[in-house]
Amino acid sequence: MLAEFQNPPSCAGTGLLMALLGVFLFRFFKKKKPGEVSPDALDFVIVGQGLAGTLLALELEKCGRKVLVVDDGWKSAASQVAAGVLNPVTGMRIVKTLGADDLVPAAKRVYAALGERFGETFFHETPFYRFYTSEHEREVKAKREKNPEYEGWLSADVPAGTLCGGGLADRLGGFFVNRAGWLDIPKLLDRAREEWRSRGVLLEENFDCAEVEVSRTGTRWRGRDVLGGIIFCEGFRVRENPWFSHLKWQPAKGEFVEIELAGTENFQGQILKSSVAAIPLGGTRWRVGTNYDRDVLDTRPTAEVAERLRRSFCAAFSPAKSAGDAKIVAHRAGVRPAVQGTLPKVGAHEKFPKLFLFNGFGSKGVTWLPLYAERFAVTLCGEKD
Ligand SMILES: Cc1cc2nc3c(=O)[nH]c(=O)nc-3n(C[C@H](O)[C@H](O)[C@H](O)COP(=O)(O)OP(=O)(O)OC[C@H]3O[C@@H](n4cnc5c(N)ncnc54)[C@H](O)[C@@H]3O)c2cc1C
Repeated sequence: MLAEFQNPPSCAGTGLLMALLGVFLFRFFKKKKPGEVSPDALDFVIVGQGLAGTLLALELEKCGRKVLVVDDGWKSAASQVAAGVLNPVTGMRIVKTLGADDLVPAAKRVYAALGERFGETFFHETPFYRFYTSEHEREVKAKREKNPEYEGWLSADVPAGTLCGGGLADRLGGFFVNRAGWLDIPKLLDRAREEWRSRGVLLEENFDCAEVEVSRTGTRWRGRDVLGGIIFCEGFRVRENPWFSHLKWQPAKGEFVEIELAGTENFQGQILKSSVAAIPLGGTRWRVGTNYDRDVLDTRPTAEVAERLRRSFCAAFSPAKSAGDAKIVAHRAGVRPAVQGTLPKVGAHEKFPKLFLFNGFGSKGVTWLPLYAERFAVTLCGEKD
């Protein structure tokens, strides 16, 4: 603070006077009567502008709250490297995501509204074609189809070699998961960032938890009152957070590649899921991923995984494409902020009710986050006064 009042050596006397004035002003503004709120008070500070922090900040602003978003622009954040797929029925057991009947319509509504607001398309509704990998899988799917809860979520079986003029290596056939698609997360985050930057409500630097003053009733940050509280949306880096790092995190590294492969234009009508998922990006370009690594938690792309993804992608076609023709044009890695158990971690700290966590969306952030952000914002706004 005093540094602002230091003068050049030529006017040392004035400098001293200004420094003393500075101390006086600093004290004057710092001293608050009990219960008094500082004039620059905020409603919420959001730490992290990944998909979680972005959607939550937008919802809080919709409720009329004064929000400051702090983000250090980490290029390997999960939201920057995610494939972005919304797939409501997943896994070997072909299971519908818990709450999908509410989550999926909410996600589509929110992404469409954001698209209108920013004049862009963020969510691309795209059929998701899943190859059968075994007869057992076909039996599991047949069982699901009989369950009324799955009505409308899965297509009838597609016979082997019939889709895309027989150009796919779906030797056992496959089926479509309905209501799927993919979100261009980096584009959405960029647009929100530009808007917040222009309004001066985005601080592009590291958030230092040592600058937080916290008690059982309130929160201050850099001397400013934060009336509603500080909400941590740090993704995988929550492990550096002194209040929430102890929770049972179970992060998983993942990689994807972007591939250009001539002769694949006519397959771009759907996401292809063989042993890898391939998202059509237009023309002959595909985003292909991904793997799960719970042991190595860095964000370095590895040549070995890239090669595996390339070969698996080429093998999805019939006849198989030559891996040598598939050109890798991008390769990214990141860590999913996953938790033990099935549900994300959302809520207040057990001792400090004005510190919140909004994290743990694992590999389903695109599906889960819109509804979670809406509901959490409503809860937080109700708690303001
Ligand atoms: C390879 C890969 C593929 C994936 N594919 C999919 C998919 O297809 N579908 C899907 O739904 N999900 C997918 N995911 C998961 C998805 O990315 C996450 O669920 C979601 O993006 C998590 O968002 P987040 O905001 O919680 O975290 P993050 O995206 O990690 O964002 C955290 C932000 O906080 C910032 N930050 C952290 N600490 C600080 C600090 N101290 N100061 C300032 N800023 C800070 C970081 O810079 C970052 O911007 C994938 C993830 C990976 C890694």
